[in-house]
Amino acid sequence: MKLIHGTNQHGTGIKSGSQFTGTVHSYLTMPATDNVVINTVNFTPGARTYWHQHEHGQILQVLAGEGVVCTDADGIRRLRAGDTVWCPPGERHWHGAAADSFMVHTAISLGQTSWAEPVTQEEYEAPKAEGDADVQ
Ligand code: MN
Repeated sequence: MKLIHGTNQHGTGIKSGSQFTGTVHSYLTMPATDNVVINTVNFTPGARTYWHQHEHGQILQVLAGEGVVCTDADGIRRLRAGDTVWCPPGERHWHGAAADSFMVHTAISLGQTSWAEPVTQEEYEAPKAEGDADVQ
């Protein structure tokens, strides 16, 4: 068993550059353990990840605010506090805050994460998919 006390969290810091566009505050909730890593990530308005994929998938749990998640197949879907997203193994996607809101999510990542190119402003501002109240 491994118990990670909240007060002992490390890795807290502002991230930008090779994985994120905009200002993102992230802390390592659980360092990589048995190929699972958990990050709690606070995206400022307009901030988002680069395109990327997870070797064995990823679970996102939105704790606060409003955000977006996007895949090639599904387009951009809105996220709100309480939403949960399953990103299947190897599916290219990105996630982040809405343009006018912070968004905090827990990200449970399985296996290696492979990072690709930034999400362009055009991609970020693309129309949201219909029926965006549900994430399925
Ligand atoms: Mn992801």
